[in-house]
Amino acid sequence: MTFEHVPVSTIDETLAAMKQFGERGKLYAGGVALSILMKSKVYRPEVLIDVAGVKELSFIEETPGGGIRIGPGTVHRALETSPLIRERCLLLAEVFHNVATIRIRNTGTIGGNICFAEPASDPPGVLLALEARMKARSTNGSERIIPAAEFWIGYYECALRPDELLTGIEFDPLPPGFRTGYTRFTTRSKEDKPCVSISAAVAVEADGITCREARIGLGGVEAVFRRLASVEEGLKGTALTRKSIDGVLTHALGDLDPISDIRASGDYRRQVTPVLIRRTIEKAMDMSGSPARAANS
Ligand SMILES: Cc1cc2nc3c(=O)[nH]c(=O)nc-3n(C[C@H](O)[C@H](O)[C@H](O)COP(=O)(O)OP(=O)(O)OC[C@H]3O[C@@H](n4cnc5c(N)ncnc54)[C@H](O)[C@@H]3O)c2cc1C
Repeated sequence: MTFEHVPVSTIDETLAAMKQFGERGKLYAGGVALSILMKSKVYRPEVLIDVAGVKELSFIEETPGGGIRIGPGTVHRALETSPLIRERCLLLAEVFHNVATIRIRNTGTIGGNICFAEPASDPPGVLLALEARMKARSTNGSERIIPAAEFWIGYYECALRPDELLTGIEFDPLPPGFRTGYTRFTTRSKEDKPCVSISAAVAVEADGITCREARIGLGGVEAVFRRLASVEEGLKGTALTRKSIDGVLTHALGDLDPISDIRASGDYRRQVTPVLIRRTIEKAMDMSGSPARAANS
């Protein structure tokens, strides 16, 4: 297979190359996802715009409001080990710690992961629960912010237009009182991509048990990542006990539309998803006493 390799070193150079090559050009970050498609001849790019050397796309920094801003070129391993991420959002560090193997975590980027939009991915669900915002810059110079809830729009499809480069991922600290939990469920090996992934952030009332607010991010189950709005609504005002969580889940998952693939059938996913949601909420609640596990502590 022949293709032109165009290394770029700044955002401006990247946008210029995107404009020059148009539909013939493909952004190439860590190459983990793209190289597999290329080797198997599923995808034959004409021009690879290699952004691995764009330092402006690789950063982890604090925002003035105490949130976090991440460059899309940041590799998984940097997010897993960042002291700032571990201090401010241990949930995110935990999620990246569980992506694939250390070799892939040293190469794959958060931007490549979320733009590829493969349903069996770990980071999107947690970015939904954190209500992250994605920043995109177009070759025409305009910029826009895409909320996580609008970022994944189809099977392997994100909301970026072909003329847009993802330049940042940002989220605010979770409000005080939120507790978080993450579950990745694999069916083939521990290192496999998740068949089901659940990210939960829950806040309780002063009684310590009644749910004030819940955010549940779902991955792996459906073609598109999303927040489970009806579950979140059902949990509000409910005591977060096993029985009542199960009661909510019995009624609130009627719109679940699971996929069938090599990891599991749709029927299987339908069976395990409520159990895994409940366990993730329980995990978040159990973690309340642990400063290492409580959100933003
Ligand atoms: C064996 C294996 C196991 C894996 N296990 C897991 C797992 O357990 N959990 C998990 O979540 N993932 C897993 N993955 C997926 C892996 O995390 C992603 O493939 C990887 O993060 C993609 O990042 P990349 O930098 O290599 O992207 P690339 O392959 O370089 O690019 C992927 C896509 O993103 C686009 N892109 C990249 N950067 C930008 C940008 N800044 N703006 C716009 N578009 C951009 C590219 O054009 C391309 O379409 C696994 C992959 C493999 C091969």
